[in-house]
Amino acid sequence: MRKKRLKILYAASEVVPFAKTGGLADVAGALPKQLKQLGHDVRVIMPKYSSIKETKFRLREVIRLRDIEVSVGDQTYQISIKSAFIPDTKVQVYFVEHGDLYNREGLYTDPKTGESYSDNDVRYILLSRGALEIAKILYWQPEIIHVNDWQTALIPLYLKTLYKDDPFFNGTRTVLSVHNLGYQGIFPPSAVRLTGLPETMLFPMAPIEFYGSFSFLKAGLEYADIITTVSPTYAREIQTDPEFGVGLEGVLQRRSQDLVGILNGIDDAEWNPELDPLIARKYSKADFAGKEENKKALLEFSGLKYHRGTPVIGIISRLADQKGFDLIAAVLDRLSALDLQIVVLGTGEEKYHRLFKQAAEQFPQKFSVQLGFNNQLAHQIEAGADMFLMPSRYEPCGLNQMYSFMYGTVPIVRATGGLADTVIDVSEHPDTGTGFSFREYNATKMLDAIQRALSLYKDSEAWHALQLRGMNQDFSWRNSAKKYVEIYEQALKKPGPAIG
Ligand code: ADP
Repeated sequence: MRKKRLKILYAASEVVPFAKTGGLADVAGALPKQLKQLGHDVRVIMPKYSSIKETKFRLREVIRLRDIEVSVGDQTYQISIKSAFIPDTKVQVYFVEHGDLYNREGLYTDPKTGESYSDNDVRYILLSRGALEIAKILYWQPEIIHVNDWQTALIPLYLKTLYKDDPFFNGTRTVLSVHNLGYQGIFPPSAVRLTGLPETMLFPMAPIEFYGSFSFLKAGLEYADIITTVSPTYAREIQTDPEFGVGLEGVLQRRSQDLVGILNGIDDAEWNPELDPLIARKYSKADFAGKEENKKALLEFSGLKYHRGTPVIGIISRLADQKGFDLIAAVLDRLSALDLQIVVLGTGEEKYHRLFKQAAEQFPQKFSVQLGFNNQLAHQIEAGADMFLMPSRYEPCGLNQMYSFMYGTVPIVRATGGLADTVIDVSEHPDTGTGFSFREYNATKMLDAIQRALSLYKDSEAWHALQLRGMNQDFSWRNSAKKYVEIYEQALKKPGPAIG
């Protein structure tokens, strides 16, 4: 039987290459491409932030979608839509434009203060309602609306409340993907008024209530037809362990029949040492010499001396508690005494900025630190480093360990979430291992994994075999995209909004 061609509206707050703060953007840039290749009619909707350059991405006005009025609480906002394609694809992206609300430097936080914008509730309610209104004006009836994280999590709520009797959305079902349960979009109870829903919807234990506040993510978890998260292990962890479930374990357990973990893929056209225009020299499994050239170039850029035989460990990360860098702080001296060099690229919390700056001052031959967001340098670190460290406290999926595999860079990870699903410890599995991992969240255990890596690195034949095992894996989106289509088909079997 021929599979049905689905109309899918993919709603996300960040999409590569237009805007990115983390993994969600990589997913939102790559999955729709694959869905399109599988023959589906997929369109993406996101805000038009000021960082999205109109000429660079050839944004065009959509005349029919100019000055659309969308109400958020008592206020009416006028939005206009610009449209472009994800580069080199036919995936259409609708950019929601609003002068005051989206035309800002930061996505969610003000870069000047580091604080979240105080009107994020208004901004993402407008995006969510705007998405539904635009579909109606276009008379484009999506069978699936795939929403992502708290920013678009109110769409499932809307379809089962305000829009439940709207025949336009009769055939529409929703899928919510949770990329990180640590960010829930929690707002004061007064924010309920902004949704256009009765304030009485917020009562103790209500679907949208979280400790007296209004949680956008919880609303999505309650009302989405299917919930996905980005790795099988994380899907289990968030249901069973309060440290991972962050207070939402109950809802997640209740919805466990509708909760699926699908490992993210990676865009193997963008993260591929054979094709990568951003690195010093291209290389491949067959022609591996270029890797050492990249290492030299990276060290030179980083102001570190090249020593043959001394491994370089790369770190590219948001600098947040989730990422486990307090483990590095705990063993900084012992780490610096080892024969290694560490190149860090990251931005985030001030305390980690301080930690890494201090490390670079104290051990200038060992540490090089770039505080900021720099995609080109991220590629150069993947290509130039020998090892890649991710000691995460929790990690829904993690992308950099998979990028590392592509570049023959061996990951050292804490076995949690997607890291546990993708990295096989070579000390435990000498013939099939692809990296190094440690289970307990403990600095000595991390150090032990690093030391195991340093010791295998000395055996260049065994090390190269390990690199090749990593490079031979297929983490491309093709497999994962097919799983999403199965999920969409499952969602379509769910009862319609009017019944839900
Ligand atoms: P998370 O979504 O939790 O930040 P992921 O590993 O899923 O973590 O995805 C992070 C993505 O963001 C990767 O593509 C990584 O390369 C990129 N990234 C993170 N920090 C930086 C940075 N400072 N500069 C460039 N890219 C970064």
